[in-house]
Amino acid sequence: MMFLLYQQYKDHHMQEKPRKAIINALLTVIKVEQLSRSFLRLHFSCDKPLMVNPRWICPHLKLLFADPLTGEITFPQLDENNKIMVSDRIRQLARSYSIRGYDESTNQLIIDFAIHSQGLATVWAQKAKIGDQVGIVGTAGKLEFDNQFLVLMGDISAVPSICYTLENLPSSQTALAFIEVNHKTDIVDLPINKNVKVQWFVKDLNAPNQLVDAVMNINFSDQDNILFWGGMERSLAQQLRHSIKDKYPNLEPNAIQITSYWREGFAEGEFKHRD
Ligand SMILES: Cc1cc2nc3c(=O)[nH]c(=O)nc-3n(C[C@H](O)[C@H](O)[C@H](O)COP(=O)(O)OP(=O)(O)OC[C@H]3O[C@@H](n4cnc5c(N)ncnc54)[C@H](O)[C@@H]3O)c2cc1C
Repeated sequence: MMFLLYQQYKDHHMQEKPRKAIINALLTVIKVEQLSRSFLRLHFSCDKPLMVNPRWICPHLKLLFADPLTGEITFPQLDENNKIMVSDRIRQLARSYSIRGYDESTNQLIIDFAIHSQGLATVWAQKAKIGDQVGIVGTAGKLEFDNQFLVLMGDISAVPSICYTLENLPSSQTALAFIEVNHKTDIVDLPINKNVKVQWFVKDLNAPNQLVDAVMNINFSDQDNILFWGGMERSLAQQLRHSIKDKYPNLEPNAIQITSYWREGFAEGEFKHRD
């Protein structure tokens, strides 16, 4: 059978799993590296252990920046039902980033920031120096490795999450990745693995559809346990979602997990990640 029915798929592969760990911890910058034209890598020490499940696909976290008016980091609190209470102010000061590396023995975390012209996080990262601090609300993983055939797609903002995932891929997993970067220096050397193929593209105004075309040119109909995962700018995310749904109309909704990681002209919090 080409694709499992939705319910079967959900029962077998997409069961709800614990996904979030709220810790409200402080990260302190311990090293800053300029990796490429687009990427700044920041190494942090964390004042509390983080929960990072090795089976998470593309794990991410929520950073919380100091309020520029007070210089203070105000963490969200839990209500009596253990539900996180997030004010509008906290939302304005929070940004999503991916785990690029975490060492639980030293409690050190690596985040790669794609640099762009304006924004709370990107400006902070460019000025960051050893000793600077930022809050972390918690870590999260929406999906887990479950022997799916993984199709990972992303622009510059998803390079860290896709690289982390490919570097931590269980040996039983197969993955195909399509990644569009801003500059050729942003291309990352990944460990050679016979189960993984990566197609890199450099952004080209004359080929605006190169990533979508590359994904759509491959026929995945014979994969009966497939997961299309994506992280990218909203219009590209929408284009990919529609193209994949049109080409594979019988695919279960949960087999397509494409998130708008950012939206042109909008700050995080001003748009929905799944629109
Ligand atoms: C789950 C998840 C994981 C993510 N992981 C990473 C990661 O590891 N590394 C990473 O760099 N990003 C990552 N992102 C994307 C990141 O959260 C956004 O780029 C975020 O908007 C950056 O915040 P900011 O304060 O710099 O800019 P904002 O204040 O949110 O936005 C200011 C302006 O910058 C523009 N902008 C935002 N991001 C970009 C961009 N990448 N390129 C060009 N213009 C942009 C916006 O359109 C807006 O006009 C992730 C997003 C999600 C949802």
